[in-house]
Amino acid sequence: MRLRNIPSADDAILNSEYCIKNPEEQKGHWQDCFDKVQPLHIEIGMGKGRFIMDTAALHPDINYIGIERYSSVLLRALQKVEQNPLPNIKFICMDAADVAEVFAKDEVDRIYLNFSDPWPKDRHAKRRLTSTRFLERYNNILTPEGRVMFKTDNKDLFDFSLEQVEEAGWILENHTYDLHHSEYNEGNVMTEYEEKFSAKGNPICRLVAYRHAK
Ligand code: SAM
Repeated sequence: MRLRNIPSADDAILNSEYCIKNPEEQKGHWQDCFDKVQPLHIEIGMGKGRFIMDTAALHPDINYIGIERYSSVLLRALQKVEQNPLPNIKFICMDAADVAEVFAKDEVDRIYLNFSDPWPKDRHAKRRLTSTRFLERYNNILTPEGRVMFKTDNKDLFDFSLEQVEEAGWILENHTYDLHHSEYNEGNVMTEYEEKFSAKGNPICRLVAYRHAK
């Protein structure tokens, strides 16, 4: 699998108990990394990790894994969690394209995608984390009742994602083009990008999708 090359951030990541170094070796055994066996939620493309750390602090009854492909960005999350330790969170530095090599079938209860890179050129559509190609990967790791929750302020990416959910045969549980003024906002935890873009007046879109039980 493709692990990202990590220059100066390397040492901090290699030495951190929060960062799992050979994640494919944990496939099917992720619960062993945590104090308690409890549902597993992951965020793909977590950036500096504010959302997943705030969410993990609010929900000690859930285990969380944050995935980020750039070590220099992940390092910021490690610095934060080491100042405010949490027993129910781990991190992986990897490309999301490899998720099905790292998590086993039915191992993940929820996938968060927050402000994923838009890849605006048509020829890069398959790189979008909500493309059918990625939904197929998520299909391989989610429990039957598992959900994908996607937030963005990018309307084009959101409309593309709604189409991809339908094309992949997934079920749209709910969606909104203005999360912060909708019935779904209760309990919403803001991400770094969400705070930045909503402060500029951009409405935040969110969808929740799942598959037919296998
Ligand atoms: N989720 C955060 C937020 O909402 O504040 C960060 C959003 S930022 C626009 C997208 C992040 O996803 C970046 O840190 C980027 O490196 C990461 N990312 C994009 N594609 C990825 C991939 N294929 N695998 C892992 N991380 C990815």
